[in-house]
Amino acid sequence: MKPLGIGLIGTGYMGKCHALAWNAVKAVFGDVERPRLVHLAEANADLAKSRAAEFGFEKATSDWKALIADPQVDVVSVTTPNQFHAEMAIAALQAGKHVWCEKPMAPAYADAEHMLKAARASGKVAVLGYNYIQNPVMRHIKTLIGEAAIGAVNHIRVEMDEDFMADPEGFFYWKSELSSGYGALDDFAVHPLSLLWYLFGHVEAVITDMVKPFADRPLMEGGRRAVENHDGANVLMRLGGGISAVLMANRAAWGRKGRIALQIFGSKGSIAYDQERMNEFELYQADDRGTEQGFRKILAAPAHRPYDRFIPAPGHGLGFNDLKIIECRELIRAISGQPSSLVTFEDGLRIERSVHAMAQSFHERRWIEIG
Ligand code: NAD
Repeated sequence: MKPLGIGLIGTGYMGKCHALAWNAVKAVFGDVERPRLVHLAEANADLAKSRAAEFGFEKATSDWKALIADPQVDVVSVTTPNQFHAEMAIAALQAGKHVWCEKPMAPAYADAEHMLKAARASGKVAVLGYNYIQNPVMRHIKTLIGEAAIGAVNHIRVEMDEDFMADPEGFFYWKSELSSGYGALDDFAVHPLSLLWYLFGHVEAVITDMVKPFADRPLMEGGRRAVENHDGANVLMRLGGGISAVLMANRAAWGRKGRIALQIFGSKGSIAYDQERMNEFELYQADDRGTEQGFRKILAAPAHRPYDRFIPAPGHGLGFNDLKIIECRELIRAISGQPSSLVTFEDGLRIERSVHAMAQSFHERRWIEIG
């Protein structure tokens, strides 16, 4: 197979994360072709040039359509703000490229549907950046649940909190615009939803409250602008098999930096995990009850594949960017027709539907069943 030609649109937080993954995937896994970093697009031409030099891309442009038209590009990483995902991903798919698009799919549900339609029509691989399902620890939790290590699961609590919008005097930027989505729901809740989907399947019904802690924010150029979406959301959910769940998302939670705290309660035990301590989780098994009761801390180790591809020593730990490297390898496997573990546009649309049902439930003040 000839090396995959890579195009990268956007070079911010996630753009760099994708670039690191494309650069590292061969060194970490060995069993994939080294990708060819062909073309990079960034809104500003000078920035595009300097980022291309830093990330190792051959060409730079400020016109993302030129990247899509480049015959050397086989896969497009879309890492721009949410409101650009649909147009860019659809154009890439229509040009016959595979697409690796950051979450969420699109602020408008109809746009997300168009993205799936374009993916189906193209026959290309189209997946979303839901990196947290790639954690070897999360894979091990899935195995334990499959083996009924905590019995039949009946209740789940998940919280996603960060504090990058906790300062009321933080400048207004695209994340507070309605055009980027509902706020905490699209920005945050989709991540816990990807974990719930990975471990248990899709959500069946929801009822939601949403929170807007600050009415407006200062503009960099002076004056203030009204905040258009909600920084917090609290959701009650029903999953298949009678599992009840609670999801809380807050991007204005001082002190929380990357918390995705997941508690899974079963008939024979419990599991507790927090993304801020992504190299461990806690396991309580009722059968172990003796004179000493409490959770056991399990550390990430080479037995939790593919941790072993990064480090031979247990307990040394992977990082956030490593999850993207694993996701990148899964994508390359999917492109070469091998089994892979990814959130495709197909499953992503169902996550989007859950988010829109949550917003609808908030506006209509009632439970919404998700078909
Ligand atoms: P960012 O603001 O850091 O980066 C976005 C980049 O896109 C900027 O460099 C901007 O100049 C560029 N850009 C904007 N319009 C462009 C255009 N027309 N052509 C080329 N470049 C353009 O944003 P971010 O935090 O990296 O978020 C980007 C996406 O990644 C969002 O959809 C967000 O939801 C998602 N995200 C995912 C995760 C994750 O864990 N998977 C984490 C953070 C963000």
